[in-house]
Parts: sequence; structure tokens; C-alpha cells
Amino acid sequence: MTTLQDCRARDAQDPLRSLREHFTLPDGTLYLDGNSLGALPRAAPARVAQVVAQEWGQDLITSWNKAGWVDLPARLGDQFAPWIGAGQGQVVFTDTTSINLFKVLTAAARVARADAPQRTRVVSERSNFPTDLYIAQSVCEQHGLQLALVEPDEIDAELQAGDVAILLLTHVNYRTGAMHDMAAVTARAHAHGALCVWDLCHSAGAVPVDLLGADADYAVGCGYKYLNGGPGAPAFVWAHPRLAGRFAQPLSGWFGHAAPFAFTPDYQPAPGIGRYLCGTQPILSLSALQCGLDVFSAAELLGGMAALRAKSLALTDLFIELVETHCAGHGLALATPREHALRGSQVSLTRDENAYAIVQALIARGVVGDFRKGDGGAGLHKDILRFGFTPLYTRFEDVWRAAQHLREVLETGEWQRPQFHQINAVT
Ligand SMILES: *Cc1c(COP(=O)(O)O)cnc(C)c1O
Repeated sequence: MTTLQDCRARDAQDPLRSLREHFTLPDGTLYLDGNSLGALPRAAPARVAQVVAQEWGQDLITSWNKAGWVDLPARLGDQFAPWIGAGQGQVVFTDTTSINLFKVLTAAARVARADAPQRTRVVSERSNFPTDLYIAQSVCEQHGLQLALVEPDEIDAELQAGDVAILLLTHVNYRTGAMHDMAAVTARAHAHGALCVWDLCHSAGAVPVDLLGADADYAVGCGYKYLNGGPGAPAFVWAHPRLAGRFAQPLSGWFGHAAPFAFTPDYQPAPGIGRYLCGTQPILSLSALQCGLDVFSAAELLGGMAALRAKSLALTDLFIELVETHCAGHGLALATPREHALRGSQVSLTRDENAYAIVQALIARGVVGDFRKGDGGAGLHKDILRFGFTPLYTRFEDVWRAAQHLREVLETGEWQRPQFHQINAVT
């Protein structure tokens, strides 16, 4: 059985241990929620202050050129592209995941309507993140398509029906942490004539992603989760080069124009992914995000994604082992797949009752995970206690301590205190 000493020894030997220094983490907190809001990069406060004081305060409008504000979305896209298997000039950071999803789903709907008008359905998972489903509903209404929501094991049968225009999937499920085989699923979608749109919110920066290798069609992902870009950080959007230039996106704003400063009255989309920009970009937020992406550049020198993935799996394996050995008999069940190839960078536990109060009791002890509500259904759809393990800054010792706190909360029944049962606005 793994001991605290073993965990400390693993931390001492961890090739990525220096990356924790790139973050400011509050004392006394075990932060296991980097998959909801990433930690603060140490460089971000000074960087944002400099952009405010110098680039905005002193250099004012000249900073669009002088400080390179105008191409920041594309520069950050190029900086991060290798981490998702995308090429240079194929990614921009802009807007939110929800908005980017609206753009790519609309683009995909237009491609599908033009190439295969008999295809009238968009398929996604019932357990997909709700905003993805809400956006898909809107796009379907606008383009005369029907949205079908299924369980993961029903996707193949849906594709075989032959009328699927778009398959919209989130690579790593936000509740269970289950991961799809992107290349295999994309190949099956293509074999049945469907376009494949991937949401990478819980995978970008946390697990290996190879969009070009998987021959994906479109992808979007989050800047404030594993990328540590700050609350509401700009998200990213990617379209395969064969599709990027094919249709104008629906939010045809001037920053996506081929020549925004020509001020012509008619819209001419920029070539490629540049057209996925809409209006004036949030420079302060992009500047903070850059500090998060810079940590990945540092990680590249320490083994890159292979090293991050190895550590992430070691962390999640350890947490599963410790929960199963130390917290047995308290009604917890594992919702996250044990098989490495099917697991993202989180561990989700289900419990029939009081999952919310247990999470609250842990937070009161400084162990920050989160609760995700089920829909009352069986299996996949139970209430969840969710723990994210960001390999950039989580230590093996943290995993040990988190598991001990969980054991104590369960053994003492601390979660029964009334204050842990009050439901907050943001859970
Ligand atoms: C976090 C998350 C989002 C968030 O979308 P926003 O537009 O940033 O609010 C969307 N989809 C998935 C799958 C997510 O995990």
C-alpha cells in the first residue's frame, strides 16, 4: 500500500516538479479543481499590470501595432497549436467556448447542407456539457436539423442510420472523465458521411490530442481550465485546413474580415481560421492567458505532453488506489474508467446521497474539488464528486492528503453539519 513517504519520494523524483513554481497557489489549499478554473500563473499579475500601465496607459492606440495586440489571438493560437496536434495558422484564441461552438457548428451545418442535404441530424451525448447541447439546439433550429441525444454506446448505431450530418462530442466527459478515442470515432463518423466536431475543454493541456492525426473536422476548447488563462479567458477554435476557408462564419464581424482597416461596406472573410474572429479582442484577458500558455512552453523542455500524461495517469491511479483502500465502505463508487486509454485527467466518484455535502465539507477543509449534479438516472447520471488532477502543479503528496481528508469527512460524518447542505449559486 502506498504511504505518505512514498508520495514524497515520487514528488522528489518528478521531472515536472519545477512547474509548480510557475503558479501562485494559496497556502493550506489542496486545489483539485483546475479542470473548472485553472490556477493563477505567477507571471500573470505583473504581465497584466504592464499591459495596463504601459501598453494601454502610455502607448494607447499605438499598441495595436507596437505591442502586437492585433495578432495576439493568432500568435497565442500558434503557440498552443502543437499541444492539440494542429498546424501553424490553424488556431485562434477568441470569444468563449460556447460562441466558438456556435461558429463551428454553423459552419459544419452549412457544409453538410451543401454537400449532403439528405443528412438532417446532429448527434451528441445526453451527458455532454449542457452549453454544448443548448448551442446545438439553436444551430439545429436555424438550419432545419434535428438534434439526437444518445448514450456513448449508442453513437455507432446512430451513425449507421446514414442521416447524420454532424457528430458533436466532448473528448473528455466533464462529469465522468471518460475519454473517447478521437481518431477511431472520427474515422467511423467519416465512414458514415458525418462531420465530426470535438470539444476539447477537458482535454486541451491535460491529455494528448492530435487533431490533424485524427483527421478531425472542427474543434473548440477552453482557456480557463487546464490552460490556466484566468476566469472567462478566451477559448480557442480550430478548423481543419480543408474546411477553414470554405464558409464564412455566422458572426461576420470586422476582425474576421480580410482587411478590417480597409473599412469597406461589404464583408470579405479573412482566409483560413482568421475569419473565426468577430469583434475587437479582449487584450487584457489574452495577455493573462499568454502567461498560462507560457507554462506549457516551459513544460515542453521537461518532456512535454508525454511527461504530463504520464504524471496525470500516475496521479489519478494513486487517488483511485487511496480512495479504494482508505475510504472503502462509505458508499463511494468510481465513475471514471480504470483503463488509461479511456481516462482524462480527473477522478469522479458517485454516491447515492449527500455527494454535495461531502464536497462542501472537503472545501471547508481546504480540499477543493467540485460537485456535479446527476439527472437522477442510473450509472452515468448519478451525482458526482469530481477531482481534477492538473499535472502542472499537483503533487503526489497532495493526492495523499486529499484522500485522507475524504476519509476523515466520511468517518466522522462531518458532512452532516447543516452548513454543508446549503446550495450555493455556483457549485
Ligand atoms: C467548461 C466547458 C464549456 C464552457 O463554455 P463557456 O462558453 O466557456 O462557458 C463548454 N463546454 C464544455 C464541454 C466545457 O467543459
